[in-house]
Order: sequence, then C-alpha cells, then structure tokens
Amino acid sequence: MNQRLLRLHALLSELEIDAALITSSANIRYLTGFTGSNGMLLLTVKSDTFYTDPRYTTQAAQETVSAGVKVKIGKGHLLNLPLEDLGKSRIKRLAVENQTIPFSYITAMQPKLPLGAELVGLNGTVDQLRAIKDDDEMQAIRASVKTCSAAFERAIKRFRPHMLESELALEIDYQMRKLGASGPAFETIVASGERSALPHARPSRQPIREGQLLLIDMGASQEGYASDMTRMLHVGEASRQASKLHRAVLESQLAALEAIKAGVTAHKVDQAARKVLKQHGLEKAFVHSLGHGLGLEIHEYPRIGKRSSDRPAAVVLEENMAITVEPGAYVPGFGGVRIEDTVLVTKGGVEILTPTSKELRVL
Ligand code: ZN
Ligand code: ZN
Repeated sequence: MNQRLLRLHALLSELEIDAALITSSANIRYLTGFTGSNGMLLLTVKSDTFYTDPRYTTQAAQETVSAGVKVKIGKGHLLNLPLEDLGKSRIKRLAVENQTIPFSYITAMQPKLPLGAELVGLNGTVDQLRAIKDDDEMQAIRASVKTCSAAFERAIKRFRPHMLESELALEIDYQMRKLGASGPAFETIVASGERSALPHARPSRQPIREGQLLLIDMGASQEGYASDMTRMLHVGEASRQASKLHRAVLESQLAALEAIKAGVTAHKVDQAARKVLKQHGLEKAFVHSLGHGLGLEIHEYPRIGKRSSDRPAAVVLEENMAITVEPGAYVPGFGGVRIEDTVLVTKGGVEILTPTSKELRVL
C-alpha cells in the first residue's frame, strides 16, 4: 500500500467507515496511479481492489504496481464488479463520493448492499488529502509552470498586430505541447480590448488591434499536473486608464501574496486583495474568488474566496498547498485586468512558482 492509501485508510477508520468506493478519475489516479478513463476503486478494511475493463488490462497492471491494489477486469457496467464484492462482504458503512457520483449509481447500489449497510458521503475527504502536495507532485507542478511560462514568451514573440485571438491561443497551445505539455490544462483564454472584461472569455476570431489591452490566461498540463497563469499585455503604448487599472490589480495581487502563510485562513487572503481594490474604488469590479487549489485538476480544493453562508467552514492554508492568486478588475465597455500566479504555501509565507514578469507588457 502506498502512503496516500495509508493516509486515506487512517481517515476512514477515524470516520468509522469500513468501505469506500472511489469513482472520480482524478482521485483514482491520485490513489492508484491509473491514468485511464474507466476505473473504480473499492477500499475496505481487508483489501483494496481496482476495477477496470479489458482495454486497460496491461495498463492497469503496470500503473498500479506501487499502489499494491488487487486488479479485477470486467465487462459490462463497471459498477457490477464492486457491487458483487460488496454483496458478499459484511460492511456496515459504505462511503461514496457524494459530490460527484452519478445518481444512477446510487439507485443501482442501494438494493445490492449487504443487509443493514448504510450509505454515507465522503464529502471531499480525498480532495482534501490531495490539497497538500508531496515531493513528486511539487516537481510535476514546477515542470508544468516552467513550460507554461516558456510557451508564453515564445508565443508572444510570434504576435503580429491584427492576429486573431484564436490564432494566438493556438500558438500558445502549440508551444506548450512543443515544450513538453500533454496539452493545455484548460481552454486558453486570449481576450483583447473590451472582451478582456469578460473573466472567462473564449478566444474569438476577433483581430487583436493597436491600442488594446490583451489578457492571456493559460496553463499547461504536464505529467498530469496543471499550472495556471494570467498576464496582461498592451498593443502599443498603454493609456492612462489601462495602466491605472493594471497597477491597482498588481498592488492587490502583491498584497494577497504578502498575506499567505501556513495557518492563515483563505478568506483572510481574499480580503487582503479586496481591501486594496476597494481603495482604488474597484471592489465591485472584482467579481470572482481570489484563487483555487490546483494539481491533477485545474480547479481543486481549496477555494480561496470570501466566506459565504453556503461555505461556512473556514479553509485554513497549510504548508505545501499549491494554489493560484488571481485578483481581477473588470470594467464593462473598457476592458479587464487579471494577474495570476501559481504558488506554494510555505510555513512562513509563500513561494511564487511563476517566473514571468507581472508588468503590463507593451507589444
Ligand atoms: Zn487562470
Ligand atoms: Zn486560475
């Protein structure tokens, strides 16, 4: 059994859970090493079994070796295999990934559980384990960040006025792959002019023109791990309004970075960023949360944001969490600015992984 499975088993026993069915592919990869698309993992006090279909017989055997799980191959609906094993067991409390498991799985499972067995939610227990990165993961994230930043430099060198947003996005994706990424970690955002005020703009076929702000939000996926960076550029000399907006957001981002260290709550870091934007009269222009965890997925636990009634529990930052810090200010009809780094939380502060300059770059 690997360290990750050992830790999870210890948590399960604390929660008095004697079996857990893991169905999310990122959690399966994290716990077993399996990178395929179809698999389930059943953990019980007695054994850990990984189920997949015949396409993955060789791959599953190879990838899960160090996890030390039993591999079972089956045809038909994959859920039938763990259900069969569960039916023969004497488990009392079975935990499922209630935040992501398909509802149809729940209805199929209920009649087949051992008599008196109770179904409970894992409530993101594995996601919380994943938030704290081990050495291998940090290495993969560093490699991913490096690729992202190098691809950014190469792509903007190839920028020509009137290039389409979609062409520049394609150039970015091409460079990331050329530098070792398996692909972008999410759809690359290239948004120019007024469109930069849309926090989640998709690259359009609009030409990038002189006198416009240009927002690039990009990340590589490398060795399975994501990086995430947003930088601002300006085509030609920046106007006063654009420079002012950029300075305010940069100041806010630096204040948030300053506030990060192990033991601090996420919403306090979010507040540090908001406070600065408020001083610039931009608090209402910051319409999303400050950041997010990242790793095997681009958006992971924890969310770095305001405390709200639907998320009452305070998230406390811990050493070796990998998170993003990305305040933004969006002015409809003019444009928006976001500045985002990928960082590691350390005992006494923060290590900023993203090496790219945060200045408003003139193209
Ligand atoms: Zn981003
Ligand atoms: Zn992000």
